[in-house]
Amino acid sequence: MNEDLFKQIIAHAKEYGFIFPSSEIYDGLSAVYDYGQNGVELKNNIKQYWWKAMVQYHENIVGLDSAIFMHPTIWKASGHVDAFNDPLIDNKDSKKRYRADVLIEDHIQKIEDKIEKEVEKAKKRFENFDEALYRQTNGRVLQYQQQVDDIRNRFAELMNNNDLVGLKALIEELGIACPISGTRNWTDVRQFNLMFATKLGSVADGADTIYLRPETAQGIFVNFLNIYKTGRMKLPFGIAQIGKAFRNEIVARQFIFRMREFEQMEMQFFVKPGEELKWFDYWKQTRLQWHKDLGIPAENYRFHDHEKLAHYANAATDIEFKFPFGFKELEGIHSRTNFDLSQHEKYSGKKLRYFDPEVNENYVPYVIETSIGVDRMFLAVFSHAYTEEKLEDGTTRTVLRLPAKLAPYKVAVLPLVKKDGLPEIGQEVFDVLKKDFMVQYEDKDAIGRRYRRQDAIGTPFCVTIDNQTKEDQTVTVRERDTMEQYRLPIADLTVELLKKLR
Ligand code: ATP
Repeated sequence: MNEDLFKQIIAHAKEYGFIFPSSEIYDGLSAVYDYGQNGVELKNNIKQYWWKAMVQYHENIVGLDSAIFMHPTIWKASGHVDAFNDPLIDNKDSKKRYRADVLIEDHIQKIEDKIEKEVEKAKKRFENFDEALYRQTNGRVLQYQQQVDDIRNRFAELMNNNDLVGLKALIEELGIACPISGTRNWTDVRQFNLMFATKLGSVADGADTIYLRPETAQGIFVNFLNIYKTGRMKLPFGIAQIGKAFRNEIVARQFIFRMREFEQMEMQFFVKPGEELKWFDYWKQTRLQWHKDLGIPAENYRFHDHEKLAHYANAATDIEFKFPFGFKELEGIHSRTNFDLSQHEKYSGKKLRYFDPEVNENYVPYVIETSIGVDRMFLAVFSHAYTEEKLEDGTTRTVLRLPAKLAPYKVAVLPLVKKDGLPEIGQEVFDVLKKDFMVQYEDKDAIGRRYRRQDAIGTPFCVTIDNQTKEDQTVTVRERDTMEQYRLPIADLTVELLKKLR
C-alpha cells in the first residue's frame, strides 16, 4: 500500500475544500465526513453521470426517491435483522477491535503481495536465462498460491456456516497478531449487527424500534408494485435510486472508503425468470463500460466473481478498483433471484407479481442488482486524478486530472491584473459563461499561482483576460492537462468549450 500517497490525497481533499472530517471543531466523529464547496460539486456530478447513464439512457429504467425510515418488518423480511452481522474480535492487550474476516483477508493480501514480488523476480530470472533460480522462485510462487487457496476455501466455509469458533481458530492458526500490540491475545469472535436502531414517535408507549436503512435497495422492492402499475412498466424494467445508507461499521477506516453514513446508487432490474443470467452478463459489461467511459485506464478495474454465493443469489461479481491501498470493491452486481420480492410477499401478505401477457401468467420477477457507493466512486476518481508532476523548470505542480465532466468547475475566468478595466471584462465573461458552466472568477494573486490553484481543484480550462482582449475581444484559454495556451474570441467561448467538454 502506498501510505504516503494516500495521506497526501486525504490532505489535499481537505486543503482544497473537497472533504472535511465531520464535526471537526468538536474533534470529529469517526467515519463520518462532510463534503466541502468543491467536494459537493464533484459528488453531484458523479450522481448525475450515473443517473443519466441509468435512467435517461434506458427507456425501461425509471427513478425513485424512497424514505430512509421504513416499516421495521421490511428488515425482518430482507434478512437484515437476523443476518446483517459482522464478526468482531478484540485484542486483549491493545483493547482494539477488529473485524475477524478483515484480519484474515489482510493476511491473505500479505501473501498475495509476496506472490506479486516473487513473480516479478521470476520474470527477471527468466529473462536472464537463470534457470535454476527461476525454478526456485517459481516453486515459491506455487507454494504461496496453494496457501492462499487453502485459506480462502476454509475461510469461505467458516463464513457461510457462521462458524465463529472456527474463525477464531483460523486466526490463531495463521498466527495473526494485532497490528497495535503485536500480540496474539484475542477474545472470542462475536456477531455484531450493523444497523442503527432508533425509536419512531415519542419514547412512551407504542414507540417502535425502527432502523436507519443500511441499503437503498429495499425501498425499491417495496415500491415494485406502485411503479409497475403507475408506470405501466413491462419486463424487463429497472428502478434506480440514489440515497443515504447507514451502517455501524466496526472498523471504519481508509477515509471515505468505509463510512458509517454514506450514499448509494442502486438499480434493481426486474426480469423474466430464466433470463436472469443473460441480464447479469449485460449489466456486468454495461457497468464496467460506464467506469471505462470516464477515461480511467482499464488496468485499474477488475472483476471479482464470487465463488461462494449468498443463499438467495445465483451469480455475483464485484467491480474492483485499484485504490492507493490495493484492489478493493467499488461496485457489486448481483443476481438475487426472486428472493426479495418473495420475502416481502410472505411478510406483507400482498401479492408482488407481474402479469405476463405473453404467457398469460402471474409470477414474481427475478432481479439483477447493480450497487455502487457514491463516496467510494468519489475516492476512486479523486485518488486516480491526484498527480504530482515534475515540470521542465524543475518545479512540481499538483494537478487533479479529473474527467472534465466530473470536475467541480469547468472554467475559471482570470483577469491578468486587477486594474485597467480587465476585471470588468472578466465579470462580463463570467456572466456569459455561467449560464452553461460552473465558473470561478478570481482576480487576486499572480496569474501563475491562480493557475496552480485551478489545477489543484481540477478545473479543465482557465480563461485569461489581458490587454489584447480590450483591442480584439479575444482571451487566452489554458488547458489543465497539457498547459497548452491559445486565443479564442469571447463570442466563440461557450460553443468551443462545450465542444471540448463533450
Ligand atoms: P464491503 O464488503 O466493502 O463491506 P459490501 O459487500 O458490504 O461492501 P454492499 O452491501 O454490496 O457492500 O454495498 C454496495 C456498495 O455500497 C459497495 O460496493 C460500496 O461501494 C458501497 N458501500 C458499502 N458499504 C459502504 C461503507 N461503509 N462506506 C462507503 N461505501 C459503502
